[in-house]
Amino acid sequence: MRIEEDVKLDYKDVLIRPKRSTLGSRKEVDLQRGYTWRNWQAEDMSMEQIRPDSRHWRGVPIMASNMDGVGTFAMADKLAEAKIFTCLVKTYSVNELVGYFDNQYSERTEFVAMSIGITDRDEQKFRDVYEQADGNLKYVCIDVANGYSTRFRDFVADFKIRYPNIVIIAGNVVTGEMTEELILAGADIVKVGIGPGSVCTTRIQTGVGYPQLSAVMECADAAHGLGGHIIADGGCTCPGDVAKAFAGGADFVMLGGMLAGHDEGGGEVITKTYETNEVTKTDDGFYESVYEEKQFVTFYGMSSKAANDKHFGGLKEYRSSEGREVLVPYRGAVGSTIQDILGGVRSTCTYAGAIRLKHLNKCTTFVRCTQTHNAVYEKNTIGN
Ligand code: 5GP
Repeated sequence: MRIEEDVKLDYKDVLIRPKRSTLGSRKEVDLQRGYTWRNWQAEDMSMEQIRPDSRHWRGVPIMASNMDGVGTFAMADKLAEAKIFTCLVKTYSVNELVGYFDNQYSERTEFVAMSIGITDRDEQKFRDVYEQADGNLKYVCIDVANGYSTRFRDFVADFKIRYPNIVIIAGNVVTGEMTEELILAGADIVKVGIGPGSVCTTRIQTGVGYPQLSAVMECADAAHGLGGHIIADGGCTCPGDVAKAFAGGADFVMLGGMLAGHDEGGGEVITKTYETNEVTKTDDGFYESVYEEKQFVTFYGMSSKAANDKHFGGLKEYRSSEGREVLVPYRGAVGSTIQDILGGVRSTCTYAGAIRLKHLNKCTTFVRCTQTHNAVYEKNTIGN
């Protein structure tokens, strides 16, 4: 047994120090980034000639997670309008995926990934969609809870050989050496995060994990040294956390909980009635309790019992649930949430003096802190 003594950080442990800047307004901040995929290869020269820009991506580097209620077709189409990326849930059928990708919308090719696991069935499913999608499927998210198995690494390496012209997103890991290994095996983008998620109970069930901001900083450093990229996946609770992830070196930030509860996620809206602390006086002088209705949508981790019941006929006997099921407030269309997140990150850039999101990492000095914000009236909030 060994103990690592140096301090590892979460988003809640730091703030970004403001700096003098010449930026006039947050309107001036450019949130788009352009990336070149290290491992993408044209299948043959003609393809490189037909689509010379296939090696590159440009957009707003936020990703919707491949979770139920988040990684849906409707969410992907809405977010693509803002040049934001989506990893689809693994549970869409071949026909649904072919129908989605086999069309004239180039946004679906550039801003949407099909997600798979590492079984033979997953590989076959990918092949079926790939062969029928008429060249419109470009991104795959190979997603397992524990990205440290040799089986996972070998699957990524084999996949790269079979599909050289597919951009591979692979994860999850939290350390530099495994990030490097996956990039050398063929991944273009490594997904970073074990246990930080809003509906994740891995750390409780297993004691395994790594403070997310440090994981992002260390994996970004490792990936960038090889020309690869990383996604900070999980643990963002507010736009400030998204900004801290970018400031720590993340190329993309993946969101689950922050995008849950919207129309585009497709969940059923549940209305609950609560008795409040207030009373009203009736015309005949009596007092009556005041009730209020609140609307919610269920949201659950993809390793939770709820997800296993829904998709796999229950938890296998050798597994325990590593996710929870929660009710999140129903929030209507996702557009205003996106505006809120992007507005926050733009504002971060003006405080840090970064005219482009690309510069935020270099412009950032983190200050360690014991309290990030004043929560005294948080429960009394009636608007913002
Ligand atoms: P959030 O943005 O909600 O904090 O985190 C989203 C991330 O949590 C997902 O992208 C995924 O990596 C992770 N996640 C989703 N479901 C589960 C689960 O059931 N268990 C664990 N350990 N992680 C999950």
